[in-house]
Amino acid sequence: MLRFYNTFTKKEEEFVPAEKGKVRMYTCGPTVYGRPHIGNYSSFLMADLIQRWLEVSGYEVTLVKNITDVGHLVADADSGEDKVEKEARRIAAEQGRKEITHEDVIAVARQYEAQYIADEHLLNLREPAHRPRASETIEGMIAIIQKLVEAGHAYETDDGLYFSVESFADYGKLSGNTLDKLDAGARVEVKEHKKHPADFALWKKCVGSNSHHVLRWPSPWGEGFPGWHIECSAMSQAFLGPQIDIHTGGEDNIFPHHECEIAQSECSGPAPFVRLWIHKRRIDMGSQKMSKSLGNVLSLSDIQEMGYSPLDLRYYFLSVHYRTQLKFTEKGLEDAKKARRKIMEWMSAIDSTVPVSSSSGHAISESIQHFNDAMNADLNTPAALAEVFAAMNLYYQNMQLDTDCLTSYLEFIKIIRQTFGCFYPEEVQDIPAEIQVLLEQRETARKDKNFEEADRLREELEQQGFEVRDTDKGQKLTRM
Ligand SMILES: [Zn+2]
Repeated sequence: MLRFYNTFTKKEEEFVPAEKGKVRMYTCGPTVYGRPHIGNYSSFLMADLIQRWLEVSGYEVTLVKNITDVGHLVADADSGEDKVEKEARRIAAEQGRKEITHEDVIAVARQYEAQYIADEHLLNLREPAHRPRASETIEGMIAIIQKLVEAGHAYETDDGLYFSVESFADYGKLSGNTLDKLDAGARVEVKEHKKHPADFALWKKCVGSNSHHVLRWPSPWGEGFPGWHIECSAMSQAFLGPQIDIHTGGEDNIFPHHECEIAQSECSGPAPFVRLWIHKRRIDMGSQKMSKSLGNVLSLSDIQEMGYSPLDLRYYFLSVHYRTQLKFTEKGLEDAKKARRKIMEWMSAIDSTVPVSSSSGHAISESIQHFNDAMNADLNTPAALAEVFAAMNLYYQNMQLDTDCLTSYLEFIKIIRQTFGCFYPEEVQDIPAEIQVLLEQRETARKDKNFEEADRLREELEQQGFEVRDTDKGQKLTRM
């Protein structure tokens, strides 16, 4: 029985999707104004692990992960500059230009989007079914805002449209920031003619401090641009329908972002908007919070320059339970690298084992069962990996395997590889990690009968200097 901790109910629950065997899942994607740091990736890795485990468990998963390219303002609040436009202005200023154009902003967004996706590939994240951009889903946002206005949940001010938190009784249920608590807290100055300090922007008009906002669209309320929260409500609805099974994100998304998503979606459509909320605890840098302002963030290329594969980082992050606050250290990364190597060497040894006719060894179906139980218990990856090491020890005690025994080892290895996505024995023979990643993506494409994508990946491998052949035993790679 598969169980997850639900941030909304604050307890572990059996997972039951709305439609048998199918999972609709939404993950808040990156805001493309800079290269994400490794802490940001830990939450995307958790979503990837969830998707993989659901697929290993036989579910068909439709994952939507958006790209936020407009409307996310600095400080995650309703005022201040748009993060992407701020970066475009910084670059223009460096080039001695005062004004920025539509093309400048789009160029910044697309550049960081491409870099983000390249990083995802290095970390071997599965490609989502849809990767909508906020700037290309504006109509759906306007439609939801109109519904909210008509139903009395939103109101217009001089500078935009706001959601009235007092109109939604369940506001605060996810985060615990209910209105009585917010009222009792620090006196928040009511700005922008809001009725309640916690009211949040659905739409910002291009007036006042936003009169120079470059990305703008016509709307029933004049030219403007969307608020950050409405984007995810609209993109999720556009690609997954009004109700979804799983919504994930980092713990810093719980408030205000996800709290506001629930309010918007449930006041304009059916409830519950989301059956299961899963959040990743943040990663600290040693004993400090990892943050750009503290100057202690690492990017994926920093990790590579330190001599580690992105897949070592993947293993490091996934080996710690997602609700444990991991304190990143280089020692921890080094240990992860060694552990990953050990597991790969073991897998490689079993891959090339020839079975003997009789053996005193025994099948490891119990290990498989315990691994599954651990993963089913809210993705207990440390316990699951302990089973992997236990199976390794068993093997090294008796390396004579008969056919049954070998079959059970191979079955276990297949499950471990699919679940964790970072064990490729061939890498031991000097095939770069990024090539292994392409190979795995191609295997998935072939399995999904997506031959167009499989061919594209073959070409990409060829461009990188590797020829791939499809054989009875899977893909075979040779250097060209
Ligand atoms: Zn979001």
